[in-house]
Amino acid sequence: MKILVINSGSSSLKYQFFDMESEKVIVKGNCERISQVDSKIVYSIDGQEEIETEVKINNHHEAFENIIRILTDDNDGVISDMSEIDAIGHRIVHGGEKLVRPEILTEKVEEEIEETVPLAPLHNAAALEVLRACKKILSNIPQVTVFDTAFHSTIPKYAQMYAIPYKFYEDDGIKKYGFHGISHEYVSNRAAEMLKKNIKSLNIITFHLGNGSSCTAIKRGTSFETSMGFTPIDGLVMGTRCGSIDVAIIKYLSKEKGMSIEKIDNILNKESGVLGISGISSDFRDLATHANNGNERARLALDMFCYSAKKYIGSFLCIMGGLDVIVFTGGIGENAPFIRSEIVRNLEFLGIELDEENNKKAIGEEMFVSTIGSKICVVVIPTNEELLIARETKKALKKEE
Ligand code: ADP
Repeated sequence: MKILVINSGSSSLKYQFFDMESEKVIVKGNCERISQVDSKIVYSIDGQEEIETEVKINNHHEAFENIIRILTDDNDGVISDMSEIDAIGHRIVHGGEKLVRPEILTEKVEEEIEETVPLAPLHNAAALEVLRACKKILSNIPQVTVFDTAFHSTIPKYAQMYAIPYKFYEDDGIKKYGFHGISHEYVSNRAAEMLKKNIKSLNIITFHLGNGSSCTAIKRGTSFETSMGFTPIDGLVMGTRCGSIDVAIIKYLSKEKGMSIEKIDNILNKESGVLGISGISSDFRDLATHANNGNERARLALDMFCYSAKKYIGSFLCIMGGLDVIVFTGGIGENAPFIRSEIVRNLEFLGIELDEENNKKAIGEEMFVSTIGSKICVVVIPTNEELLIARETKKALKKEE
């Protein structure tokens, strides 16, 4: 069985084409800067060197057409005909209240995704455009939608709700949805496999630390609490997002500074986080260099990031009533030993002991980074959202048979 996995961002379209017998990636690529003047496609076949081509891509429909063209190309295509694609799996950022498990695409599911667009305007609108392009171009091939919010639908209601008038939940669905669910689910399952334990016997905290960062408490295999909320701005300090702040700051900026709501939204999403504090960069490699050279604001930004993450360990440990494993993933979680080390520093009293040597070695690969005697395991696991989507797509189709 061959499955094409599509991950549509607001201005990008990533894809991976899997052979599901071996779970090997045959082709992976990214259509970047869609609708901008310098749009391009970067792809690699069988893990070989990347090929980059500049192509004018006006919208997500055209991006998808280009992917099919590459897959079926006469010279270096990997399939001779589109019918060799058995199914398409889509990552959809927001499933709202109704879409809480992978779904085979039907008219009804499409309508329900349409209803979620106000909750994630950029991402879900782009995803819908791609779903429709797939339907048009590959009308006979089943499509499965996998939702980033779905994993968090198991969070107890008392933790999902905001203490604002109940009608805002009833009328507008305002509640905590949580994000990065596909990643949190993948790495928590993988952690249980690495420990050779049943996930139902474990309490896990997963840190997905990338441009956007979130943290999830996974109790016996299901999401029990997560740091992001109604939108992905909440929770940890991030690259450019502010994380949790006092909401009254918004009124202050509006009233005292005369800023529009759009301007404030832009500041809190794009000009805040470690970029806003350091005034230098949202990239943790740049920040580390500047901090090591004595730049105090770069150091402060890193300290704030790690402090905000550390607080979740205490909080999530308490609500789960214990902890067995901490997982680090995402660009920062997988590649920045100094951040992992800082987040779990001085937690020996809880039974968390980092093996600093192994921690330094763990760059972009699966590895235990706690000491053998550590009561709570710390592990680095590169995320693989596409593989989880491909597996869920296969599973959904099997159920249908
Ligand atoms: P996204 O959330 O967009 O998927 P990623 O998970 O790829 O992002 O994470 C990107 C971030 O990872 C970058 O901003 C960068 O700060 C961080 N990062 C990547 N490699 C390293 C590294 N070697 N050291 C520190 N940070 C890194």
